[in-house]
Amino acid sequence: MRPGVGARLLYGRGGRRAVVVYRTRTGKAGHSMNYHRILVFGAHPDDEQTMAGTMAKLADNGVEVYVAIYTDGREGYPEPWMKDRIVEMRRAEGEAGDRVLGVKERYRFDRPDMGLVNDAETLKETMRLIRRIRPDAVFNHGPHDRNRDHLTTCALVLEAVWQGGEPVCAELGEPWDTPHLFYYKGVADREPDLLHDITGYAHKFLESRATQISQHTLFKMTAEDFAREVARIKAENAPATERFWLTGRTPLLGFPDIAR
Ligand SMILES: [Zn+2]
Repeated sequence: MRPGVGARLLYGRGGRRAVVVYRTRTGKAGHSMNYHRILVFGAHPDDEQTMAGTMAKLADNGVEVYVAIYTDGREGYPEPWMKDRIVEMRRAEGEAGDRVLGVKERYRFDRPDMGLVNDAETLKETMRLIRRIRPDAVFNHGPHDRNRDHLTTCALVLEAVWQGGEPVCAELGEPWDTPHLFYYKGVADREPDLLHDITGYAHKFLESRATQISQHTLFKMTAEDFAREVARIKAENAPATERFWLTGRTPLLGFPDIAR
């Protein structure tokens, strides 16, 4: 196997398929993923933007990018006057971010911020979503985090990806065994396993962040700051990567082709 960067052009029935270039941390092998659909889970509106460059790049390559957010973000108000409007604001901001990244659909569980519970109802709702979308890859929060909703999301998605493929709860749809499952943040005990090349899309993170107007105080940036930085990163067009971690479900070597 050749070291460094790997890519494959794959054309299946139904026309163009995405080609994703991977550079492994060790440089031992290159991998491609010819996904049709990915599903990105987040605890709060905007968590998914951590992998904004990847989402934008895949969407540009014809991949259907789905986002699923567990909570309504109701506690994310930096000023008291926002309290009664924050859910509505973040709903609109989430949709604005999706337009920047080319997201096909945003699913909202609408659980209370700081109050996400790993119960049977939420597990089943997650299984139903996975079985409807039938993603080639799911992206999840990792297990090392201070935020309770992030940790609960991690546990819910890990179990739902597994149970969603089992012959249980038939009323939730036909079982779907998701081939690949990654963490996109929340892993503190090791370096990332995969660096995904997002050169040309590095500005998408701040461009999507800029749409989260209610969160600008938290980000410590103004609209002008975002505009200036997005322009600078675009002009610079430097090589860029986003970080991903494997879960027990996706081995480092021998990614199976998605052929169906
Ligand atoms: Zn969050």
